[in-house]
Order: sequence, then structure tokens, then C-alpha cells
Amino acid sequence: MTDTRPPHHGPDGRFRIPWPLDAPERRSAGSLLRWYWERMHRKLAPDPTSELLPLAPHAAAPRAAPGEIRATWVGHSTFLLQAGGLNLVTDPHWSRRASPTQLLGPARFQVPGIAFDELPPLDAVLVSHDHCDHLDPGTVRRIRDRFGAGVRWIAPLGHRDWFRGLRVEVTELDWWEETEVGGPEGAVRVVCTPAQHWSRRTVRDMNARLWASYALHLPGGRRVYFGGDSGYFAGYREIGERLGPFDLSFIPIGAYDPPWLMAPAHLDPQEAVRAWRDLGGRGAFVPMHWGTFRLSDEDPLEPPVRLRAVWEAEGLPSADLHVLRHGETLVLPLRGSASLRET
Ligand code: ZN
Ligand code: ZN
Repeated sequence: MTDTRPPHHGPDGRFRIPWPLDAPERRSAGSLLRWYWERMHRKLAPDPTSELLPLAPHAAAPRAAPGEIRATWVGHSTFLLQAGGLNLVTDPHWSRRASPTQLLGPARFQVPGIAFDELPPLDAVLVSHDHCDHLDPGTVRRIRDRFGAGVRWIAPLGHRDWFRGLRVEVTELDWWEETEVGGPEGAVRVVCTPAQHWSRRTVRDMNARLWASYALHLPGGRRVYFGGDSGYFAGYREIGERLGPFDLSFIPIGAYDPPWLMAPAHLDPQEAVRAWRDLGGRGAFVPMHWGTFRLSDEDPLEPPVRLRAVWEAEGLPSADLHVLRHGETLVLPLRGSASLRET
């Protein structure tokens, strides 16, 4: 019998990275011990105070104007994306800790850029994968309780039961599958795209749920890419060719140190720029996955510094790089006029 499963579906029902890795995967118990051991002998930069991560608090607009795209950084990989007449959030996280328990684990350096109670009505939620810094049950419950059944939840394969445990119905997508979210300006096409990552919430569910990035095609033709959580992989080129070019890309830049452990699953700033070039190398680059939770050993303030240095060294247009502050909104007006930032 021939196996017709796509190559990222493993024979044991779990998911897997189907292409060879540039750097070997080292996420074993021994590697974690090595990491803890090395950490004890390194002097890590202190956690940044919230003063070092300036907040740009302002009320989010209720809706974007027709044809406009508004993206507000809440923190880490959470954005309020207002486009096509819809309000979407990515990887929603409004809790204090990125952890299975709110008693311990990485606590945020900066409060969410939009307070949960200040959110405008939500229409859809995009979830990239099940890690605690991207999928937070406390936040899922708050969205469910405040916005009810009108919210469309979209996640990669394997998440249905987890969401049902919280009485939320989710649209599950495999890589390259798509769905539509209807809005006042027409349907937003949401395509689930690959990422190089892994998943786990408990000791037993390693890679039981798929991880993904997303391409959004908005009514009127503009396109947005949300990179989820990923290491560098050759597939960015294919995503760009099939679904780009993108007017706006959210790309992760943090959690890269030590590289021997982090590189398979996380982009560093240099790799993030390479990914953006592979995707088509145009449109707004908005970095994410930094400055909010400490998940790794680099100075939490370093990723955007390195990103700006790479951007400059490669001679890329400064108008395309948008390192947002928590709470800051990037506005891409109707085609033809310059972007602006509201702080
Ligand atoms: Zn992750
Ligand atoms: Zn992450």
C-alpha cells in the first residue's frame, strides 16, 4: 500500500519537519541539561525594565478605514490586525506569563500594548501553534467570554480537541489549505503555510499539533504574511512565489541564543531578513517574537538592534522597516500613499 500522507505527517500520527535541517535538531533531554549547565556559567543580561521598552498606549481604532491596513503590536507575536473591514488578532496572549501555569514561568517585561478591555470587537483569531507564548488558555477564555461565538478561530491541524476543552470551535487547516473569513469589504482568504518549528504543551503531546504561518489575501488585492514561529528554511521562497508578494510581513526575530539549540526553530535577525527577501523582499517588515518574554539567552533588547544593523548593512529601504513599540500602530493607507505610524 502506498503512503499518501503528505511528508510532514509522520507515520505515528505526529507531525514532523519534512525537509533536512541546516543545523541538527538538538531538543533532547541531554541538550536541555547542557543549556542549563551553560546558563549557570554565563552572565545573562538582566530582564529589561518596562522603561526600556517604551509603551505607545493609545486606543485602537474601532475599524480600519476601507482599503486601509492597521497593525498594532500588543507584544511578542500578538497583533491586532485591522484590514478588509475585519478585526483579527494573531497568537493572542494577554496573560502575565507564557507558561502552563500563571504561578511561574516567563513573565512579560511590558504590559500588553492594548489592554484587553480596550480591544475593539474581534472577528477572527489566527493561531500559529500550541507553545505557551503563542496559545494561552486564559486569553482564549477571555476572548470567548467577551466576543462569543461570532469569532472565527483558525489554527493548524490537531488543535480541535484542545479548543473544544475550552468550548471553542476552531477551523483546522493543513499546510496549503485555506479558508475564507467574510467581511464587509468581501472575503479575506486565509492560507495556512509551512513553518519550521515543533509543538508541545505537555510531556506526552510532542508534535501532536501542527505549526504554521499564514498568508492573508485581502479584498482589494493587498497581501499580509504572518510568520508564526520558525527557523530559517528554504520554503519561504515557495510561499512568496505562490502567495506573495506581501504588502506587510510579520516576521519573528528573537529567541536565537544559544544558536546550537535555537537555530532549527527560531530565526535570528539576519535569517529573518533573508526570509523576508525570499518571500519577495518588498513591503513592510514588522518584527515580532521579541521584547516581551525571556525564552532564550540573548539580551532581550538586542534583536531589533541587530535587525536594524542587518537592514542597513544590506542597503534595504529604511521606509520598509517598522520596529514597533508595544501599542504602536502601523497604518498602511489605501495604495499610493506613504505608511505612517501612530503612537
Ligand atoms: Zn514556538
Ligand atoms: Zn515562540
